[in-house]
Amino acid sequence: MRVVVVGGGILGLATARLLATSRPEDEVVVLEKEDGLARHQTGHNSGVVHAGLYYAPGSLKARLCTRGRELMQAFCADKDVAYDACGKVVVATRETEVGRLRRLAQRAETNGVPGLRWLEAAELAQVEPHVTGVAGLHSPHTAIVDFVAVAGAMAADVRAAGGEIRTGVSVARITQNGSGPRIELHSGETVGADRVVVCAGLHSDRLARASGEDAEPRIVPFRGEYFALAPGRTHLVKGLIYPVPDPTLPFLGVHLTRKFDGSVWLGPNAVLATALEGYRRSAVVWRELMETLTWPGTRRMMRRHWRAGVGELYRSARKRAFISELQRYVPELEVADAVPAPSGVRAQAVDRDGSLVDDFRLGVSDRVVWVRNAPTPAATSSLAIAEELVSRVIG
Ligand SMILES: Cc1cc2nc3c(=O)[nH]c(=O)nc-3n(C[C@H](O)[C@H](O)[C@H](O)COP(=O)(O)OP(=O)(O)OC[C@H]3O[C@@H](n4cnc5c(N)ncnc54)[C@H](O)[C@@H]3O)c2cc1C
Repeated sequence: MRVVVVGGGILGLATARLLATSRPEDEVVVLEKEDGLARHQTGHNSGVVHAGLYYAPGSLKARLCTRGRELMQAFCADKDVAYDACGKVVVATRETEVGRLRRLAQRAETNGVPGLRWLEAAELAQVEPHVTGVAGLHSPHTAIVDFVAVAGAMAADVRAAGGEIRTGVSVARITQNGSGPRIELHSGETVGADRVVVCAGLHSDRLARASGEDAEPRIVPFRGEYFALAPGRTHLVKGLIYPVPDPTLPFLGVHLTRKFDGSVWLGPNAVLATALEGYRRSAVVWRELMETLTWPGTRRMMRRHWRAGVGELYRSARKRAFISELQRYVPELEVADAVPAPSGVRAQAVDRDGSLVDDFRLGVSDRVVWVRNAPTPAATSSLAIAEELVSRVIG
């Protein structure tokens, strides 16, 4: 069997690795449009291995994040990829947030998150000396990792097992007829396959539409902007510090994240991106922007979440407002402590009624499996999502 995986991000590579290592009789080929791997979401994220606190019990996210974290830790140990279980604290800064934090703690328990500890105000400083709040939830097994290094180790396994990774190869559409899927490239070339797995991230809906699949959900790109703490101020953060999230949104709120190089990142916020791969505010691709804005689902989403959207835009335009959000739980932080850092763009699926798709969405159409929504914590869950995709495509 020849299985083609579209997309050389962490999901495509995890899937190709599982196929190549567990089914040595099959031919596995990865097609990636960029000249290198992990250039988009996989290479522009917070690098947090989530423990599974947030996700609705019984959802794919809850199940695959828990298993994915275990697999990720074991994979990193096996491949010598640095992995640091530095732990995370979610901080309630107002009495009104305590009820939401308690519900989050219950949900995390239901999801089987290990080692959870409720922190009273006075106990917060034991975990994060510079944090203040009225209560906290500590998750000691939440970790940090470099997902680009993980993706590189996955790619090495694919090649070692005889799989092929082709970069600079852009897929235009996938058609299916009696003789199996045909992959048409933008170059005009056609690639044959017995099975296809599509992990095209920000382009997943466009590729599906071009291939005659369901036009929805659509991907709406949300840029996540970061600042970094100035080197002399990184002592303010030991591990990972998060706010209590807004339960109506799939984003976790601006947080403070320690990285392996000792730096600390602040963010990301979530503003509508003006291009699918628009990492800078000035990056505008009018065709993509108009496609997003004229679609009824985007307009309904904006109507539903206009208050949150305006807040995000304000914090994006004013550094002081961005930092004051973080000063709620790290009061010593000053505006001058933050320097701009690179952004990422999230591929967030939105349904026609304007709802932000919360769970992972994976679709099967005959011999092709489509990843239609894989936002956070999909990098954490990648090895478990790969198991799910392989079982759906091979049967
Ligand atoms: C700001 C931000 C913070 C995040 N933080 C975290 C976090 O801390 N922890 C976590 O678990 N997750 C996090 N995530 C989510 C995580 O990064 C993604 O869920 C994950 O990387 C998705 O992987 P992917 O392989 O689906 O997508 P991608 O990494 O985007 O890969 C898709 C690939 O497909 C390729 N492609 C697209 N179209 C075509 C085509 N037509 N032909 C060929 N190739 C194509 C692209 O070039 C790309 O390389 C974050 C995401 C963002 C943006």
